[in-house]
Amino acid sequence: MQYVSTRGGVEPIGFKDAILMGLATDGGLLVPEAVPSAEIHLEEWVGLSYSELAFQVIRLFSDDISDEDLARMVSASYSRFDHPSVAPLVGVGSLSVLELFHGPTLAFKDIALQFLGELFAHVLTERGQTLNILGATSGDTGSAAIEAMRGRPGVRVFIMFPEGRTSPLQELQMTTVLDPNIFNLAVEGSFDDCQKLLKSVFGDLSFKDQWSLGAVNSVNWARVLAQVVYYFWSWYQLRCPASFDVTVPTGNFGNIFAGFLAKKMGLPLGQLNLATNDNDILARFFRSGAYQRGHVHFSLSPAMDIQVASNFERYLYYQLAEDPVSVKSFMTQFQDEGDASLPTQEGNFNWFNAGSVSDDETVETIRRLHETHGYLADPHTAVGIALAEKSQRPSIPMVSLATAHPAKFVDAVSRALPSVDNVHPVLSGLATKETRKYSIVADEASLKSFIESACD
Ligand SMILES: *Cc1c(COP(=O)(O)O)cnc(C)c1O
Repeated sequence: MQYVSTRGGVEPIGFKDAILMGLATDGGLLVPEAVPSAEIHLEEWVGLSYSELAFQVIRLFSDDISDEDLARMVSASYSRFDHPSVAPLVGVGSLSVLELFHGPTLAFKDIALQFLGELFAHVLTERGQTLNILGATSGDTGSAAIEAMRGRPGVRVFIMFPEGRTSPLQELQMTTVLDPNIFNLAVEGSFDDCQKLLKSVFGDLSFKDQWSLGAVNSVNWARVLAQVVYYFWSWYQLRCPASFDVTVPTGNFGNIFAGFLAKKMGLPLGQLNLATNDNDILARFFRSGAYQRGHVHFSLSPAMDIQVASNFERYLYYQLAEDPVSVKSFMTQFQDEGDASLPTQEGNFNWFNAGSVSDDETVETIRRLHETHGYLADPHTAVGIALAEKSQRPSIPMVSLATAHPAKFVDAVSRALPSVDNVHPVLSGLATKETRKYSIVADEASLKSFIESACD
């Protein structure tokens, strides 16, 4: 299986190279040259455990890794999950909620990042290389990346966060990790400042090469791939219905793109319901075909406070008949004018159904789910469930994805349910742990000199 760029400027490369490359060097995203069909395997995969299924699905895309190595990495990736089935499917009223938050940081990002951590360690050891991961976080991604990479040979992690502006719990999830390869950088500035720093340091190509900088953001192909697995998993948990729909609380389009890919591979998935909060660029696109940048709103579901969804370009590539020239011209127009359009009658547009959910509706949904079904949902999960309830079709099973444990978002949950106990032992134990972070000012020179001295 070879990988190419959505913008056509990368010679075909193997799976391992695609993982190390992350973002394609021509500014596009890496995609497989052909999407493999899983149809012939659907029957033989009945009854597999989560890890066994993950091995089978991922194997279709990664022929430069031996079966033995892949099986070991997949099983290590899911060994730290606190539920025996990894991702349990729970009945909530007429919906089935797929809980993806049983990993070490209690957010669905663990599913992909634990696997990416295994992959990086494997490929870097094999090649005798090192990688210095640089990232910026306003919340979940930072801690999931740190948990995935801590203590791994050949990898250092530098995560910037805006000092005082992430939730205290989220900060503790990062700063209580004391492994020598983890560097938490508290930046005096906003999340925007962190992202600008990230961009400018990655933009200095000679610095990037000299210090082998890499990223773990949601465009890495391995992250998408690890997420494809649980769409198949849901279908088996539902006992293989003729068709089923799914609803996905969406930010960067990584999660729901994995669902799109599962459907393309032949999984009998019906409608892909895309739920956003007030940051509704994607919801507007799937209603009108117009992709128009707006302003970022701060919401109760902060992991979805995104205006430009980094994985959207992969969908665009398939929608535009895998033609890199059309992708490039769409993206150029969007970058220049903040506005580009596609016809809504073509391709796989109708696989999607989109809706946005306000903060008020999110709070209302959290309260109602608890009162009616005794189910405690985090605000991201609630955004999904609110749309799932409205989109459910008669006699077609609906799976709604739960992306974080409610105890990660105490404030939003207590707005809906002030007197409900909302704790998780992993989080309540953090307050008494030792912490470490390094303060830096928000400028490129400080960041670079920090990286240089840490890597010496
Ligand atoms: C990252 C995240 C999302 C959004 O996922 P995308 O793949 O970016 O669409 C939703 N919920 C939670 C809790 C997250 O951490």
